[in-house]
Amino acid sequence: MTRILFWLALVFLVIAAIRSKLRKMSGPQQGGPAPAPQQPRAADPQQAEKMLQCAQCGVHFPASENVPANGRDYCCAAHAPH
Ligand SMILES: [Zn+2]
Repeated sequence: MTRILFWLALVFLVIAAIRSKLRKMSGPQQGGPAPAPQQPRAADPQQAEKMLQCAQCGVHFPASENVPANGRDYCCAAHAPH
C-alpha cells in the first residue's frame, strides 16, 4: 500500500513538472510577439502642446499659459509690456 502511494505521488509530481514546463514553453510562444501595449503617457499632453518662448526672459512655456501682448508671446503677465 505504501508503494502505491509512493508511485501515485511520483506520478503526480511528474505530471506537475511536465505541466509547469509546458506552461513555460507555451507562455512565450503565445505571447511571443507581444502586442505593444498602448502606453498612456501622462506627459504626452504637455509634450504635444505647442511651446512658446517668452519674448522677455526667453523661457519656453506651453501655449496655454501664453500672455500675448503687442503680437509677441510672454510667459506671464509680469513680463508682458503694460
Ligand atoms: Zn518671461
